[in-house]
Amino acid sequence: MRLPKFSCVKVASVEEASRLLAQPDVETCLSAGGTELLPRMKYGLSRPQKLISLKGVAAEAPVLGEDGSIQLHALMTLSAVAASHLVQENAPVLAAAAAAVGSNEIRNMATLGGNLCQDSRCLYYNQPHDFQFTAPCFKRGGDQCYFIPAGKKCRAVFMADTAPALISLGANVYVVGPVGSGSIPLEKLYSNDPLRPVTLASGEILSRIIIPARPMQRVEAFAKFSWRPGFEFSAVSVAVVLDLDEDRQTCRSARLSVGSIAAGPLRPLKAEAVLAGGRLSDKVITAAADQAAAEIHPVPHHGYSRVYLTECLRAQVRRVLHSAIGPLAKT
Ligand SMILES: Cc1cc2nc3c(=O)[nH]c(=O)nc-3n(C[C@H](O)[C@H](O)[C@H](O)COP(=O)(O)OP(=O)(O)OC[C@H]3O[C@@H](n4cnc5c(N)ncnc54)[C@H](O)[C@@H]3O)c2cc1C
Ligand code: SF4
Repeated sequence: MRLPKFSCVKVASVEEASRLLAQPDVETCLSAGGTELLPRMKYGLSRPQKLISLKGVAAEAPVLGEDGSIQLHALMTLSAVAASHLVQENAPVLAAAAAAVGSNEIRNMATLGGNLCQDSRCLYYNQPHDFQFTAPCFKRGGDQCYFIPAGKKCRAVFMADTAPALISLGANVYVVGPVGSGSIPLEKLYSNDPLRPVTLASGEILSRIIIPARPMQRVEAFAKFSWRPGFEFSAVSVAVVLDLDEDRQTCRSARLSVGSIAAGPLRPLKAEAVLAGGRLSDKVITAAADQAAAEIHPVPHHGYSRVYLTECLRAQVRRVLHSAIGPLAKT
């Protein structure tokens, strides 16, 4: 598979990239690591004539603020995020999620910002189309769905592994845009519309990710289920962050986030409520996992049925909770 012809401009800052993207002379696309964008171009799913490459922008090292928050540069590679001692010590759920993306080769090129801004995916969409289908599906501007032929809308899913981890941490993202810059909660970056999963406007670029300070008694964990871990996208990914009482056994508040089973990351709020305010025990964990499986209805994808994904979700929620509280678990 060959890349189509395109021109490429290397910029020196995110601000310069934003300016160029906002006033394109031809169809233009932003490229960071290129690990998601270039395969899409090879498949003919994106056809930019010009790429604005962020390769000339150096990723600054993560910074621990005086208030205990962590600032991460959006251009950090996922390998650097996973290997950062600051991230490992203060946000281990993110280090685990970054380490779970693709293979070593992918993580060495792929950036955190690119991971958060990737397109939604579908088995029928993410492949070459020139010889397979005669008419385009909803995601290519057409009016049919190959996955669910009677379906009236696209059911592609959003599969970035770092998104649930950062949402469970309550992270904000700093966005640089042509008409101003500012930070928004990461959850607001996702539209839950598979045709346009990320809410950034034209010319807007993620520049930093800000993780709030870690309370003393916080525990967290990430789990990804895939048939080919270490290479393949998730069937289901789950992240949890629990704030505990001084006794380290009572849960003050819980944030759970689930990826890869809908058009955007989801939070099972009722399952979070099952955990909050109670003493953590196997019974409570089982109840929270059952509640998550009851309130989230996975979109079947990549050969996984809805029933299979629901059972995976139940198992992964149990797994992350046990992994987060470890030896504190009481039956
Ligand atoms: C074999 C293979 C396996 C993979 N496995 C996984 C996996 O297990 N889990 C997973 O989550 N992903 C996986 N990916 C997808 C992809 O590699 C990652 O999501 C990666 O983090 C994308 O980062 P990038 O810097 O390469 O993004 P790019 O490909 O450069 O960009 C991706 C998209 O984000 C936009 N973008 C990039 N940076 C920014 C920014 N700072 N602000 C706004 N928009 C931006 C680009 O315009 C583009 O639309 C896999 C890819 C491959 C090829
Ligand atoms: S789910 Fe979406 S991307 Fe997949 S075939 Fe249907 S319309 Fe196309």
